[in-house]
Parts: sequence; C-alpha cells; structure tokens
Amino acid sequence: MLKFFPILLAIGYGIFMYRLSAWRTTRELDEKSTELADPKLRALTAQMADVVDITRIKVHIYEIDPVNGLAAPDGRIFITRGFYNKYKENEVTAEEMASVIAHELGHVALGHSRRRMIDFSGQNALRTALAMVLSRFMPGIGPLIANAAMSMLMARLSRSDEYEADAYASALLLKAGIGTNAQKTLFTKLEKLTGANGAAQPAWLLSHPKTAERIAAIEANEAKWGA
Ligand SMILES: [Zn+2]
Repeated sequence: MLKFFPILLAIGYGIFMYRLSAWRTTRELDEKSTELADPKLRALTAQMADVVDITRIKVHIYEIDPVNGLAAPDGRIFITRGFYNKYKENEVTAEEMASVIAHELGHVALGHSRRRMIDFSGQNALRTALAMVLSRFMPGIGPLIANAAMSMLMARLSRSDEYEADAYASALLLKAGIGTNAQKTLFTKLEKLTGANGAAQPAWLLSHPKTAERIAAIEANEAKWGA
C-alpha cells in the first residue's frame, strides 16, 4: 500500500489543482466581464438560440486585450474586449463574431469546456503521476516518456475538439440562416489580426489545425450535408 502513496498523492494534488483552477477561472471571469449588449450580435445569437431551442445564448465580454473567444468550464461564453473592439472598428463583421460564438457554443454543447480545464491545470499533475509510475519501470527515461506522451495526448485532444466545434458551428450557422462563409473568412482574418501580437494566439489557433485545413474540413462537411 505504501508504495502507491506517492501516486495517490500526485492524483490528489491533480484534483486539488483542477478545483482551484476552475474556481480561480470562474472568479477572474466574474470580476472582469459584462454581458454583451450589441443589438446586431444579439439578433444573430437569437437566431442561433431558436435553432438549438434555448431561450437565449448569453455572451459576455471579457476585459482583456488579446483577440480570443472562450467557453468557461461552467458553460458561459466569452468574447474578449480586444476581439469586440475589432468588430466595433469594422475589421470583423457581426456574422464573423457569430461564428466564434457558435464555435464556443459547440465546445460547451460537446462537453469540451469542462475537460479543457485539465489542459491548463491538471496537466502537470497528470504528468507527475505518469512520470512516477513510469520511472518505477524505466528509471531515468520514464519522466521523459511521460512528458512526450502527455504532450501528444493533449495536442490530439485539442485538435479534435477544434474540428468538432467547427463542425457544430457550421451546422448551427447553416440552420440559423447565417451561413458558413463568415466562419471561413474569419479564419483567414485571424492570422492577420493576431499577427501583430504573436504571443497572444487565440485558443482556436493555438497548437491547432492550420487555417487552410480547417476551412477544407468545413467545406467537406458542407459537401456531405449538401449545403
Ligand atoms: Zn475552439
């Protein structure tokens, strides 16, 4: 029993860090956000809400500069102030903003946003636990293998999440009568929009499929659906 103690400790630490990080994220978002009130965007989100049969898609503005959109673990959808400003400055259209909201809604509906927390919080603890287990069998290189395995797993999970959220968004945008064109034009704009601020990559570009591949995937879905 005693020999499993370090592993249990690492798992316990992982759960604790996950909880702490979920709580911190929620508090940070509560303190730094307001509800989106733009009439044009509200009209578009109302069209999408009709399709999924919910009263309203609540969207919040998160007061940070980097251009980004995110789905919180509690299911709330956020657009950053930096992104909203691009819309206000007419660099991004209302339909393109709607495509981001649809994508984030996809992460919520498909249960990614909860699991994604493990990406930033529990990941290190999982690495530690795995490294401990592996180093019992392979002293020295165990931790290296654990690291590589975790990185590959996380990259794969987030890549498939992005494609799934994109597909969800395409279906929703088509049914809501908004269409997928904005979804595709935004991808090409994003590289330019975030280019000046290379460090701040949007979540849906970070370690994720390339723009061209994502557009191709959307078009493949459209062909499949006969849209
Ligand atoms: Zn995403």
